[in-house]
Amino acid sequence: MSIAPIAPILEAVGVAKTYGDGTTALGGVSLAVHPGETVALVGESGSGKTTLLRTFNRMVEPSAGDVRVEGQPVAGLDPFALRRRIGYVPQDGGLIPHWRIEKNVELVPRLLGWDRDRRRARTREMLELVGLDLQAHASRYPGELSGGQRQRVAFARALAADPPLILLDEPFGALDALTRLELHRQFLDLKKALGKTTVLVTHDLAEAFRLADRIGVMRAGRLLQLGTPDELAKRPADPYVEALLEMRRV
Ligand code: ADP
Ligand code: MG
Repeated sequence: MSIAPIAPILEAVGVAKTYGDGTTALGGVSLAVHPGETVALVGESGSGKTTLLRTFNRMVEPSAGDVRVEGQPVAGLDPFALRRRIGYVPQDGGLIPHWRIEKNVELVPRLLGWDRDRRRARTREMLELVGLDLQAHASRYPGELSGGQRQRVAFARALAADPPLILLDEPFGALDALTRLELHRQFLDLKKALGKTTVLVTHDLAEAFRLADRIGVMRAGRLLQLGTPDELAKRPADPYVEALLEMRRV
């Protein structure tokens, strides 16, 4: 008996990006991300991770190639439809500093026109989900929270409209080691509970190994290899991947 292939949630086909100043950030990247999996994109600074992630939600228009979400080209989707489908945590968390936490979390539900009661119920649910208390935290400003708490709010905001796909750009990068471990644990709990499809950008290979089902290694605007940790370790497709995995052992 053959099993019907499961349609990917996200597909990139030959995605390239040359910025206005002539910098080629992406040299043609293709990948498919399947329902429920977490794919980590690993690579050194400047390898094109953020640019690639931002082509997925149209914050960057590719110079060539196509991105599809749930089978539909994102180029043809209106921004609201895209926001409903894709939760995004930008590299700096992206919270609006002069908005209280509650308003930050409600950003997308508000854009989608949810009424006040529904928004409030959802905000409470999301803050609880990420381990924050509505009473204690909802009316504070982002500057009145710790880095780890801000990151939790950024997650809550990304999840608020219940999108099938979440994009996370170095979400744990700016945190101390203990807070990072705590948030890793929470990430794995949420992954188990929600089963969201996630693309996670990180420069930290250990983090990728801990959190991802598959890892994509990027270098100079190219995706050198995308595979399970085991595949990368056993069958590195490129000397750079091999060297990177060697480094992990020492
Ligand atoms: P990473 O997230 O892996 O650090 P980026 O995607 O941010 O890498 O950047 C990839 C390359 O594109 C870098 O050389 C960077 O300087 C360049 N770049 C990123 N954004 C822009 C921009 N808006 N204009 C010009 N060059 C850019
Ligand atoms: Mg980046």
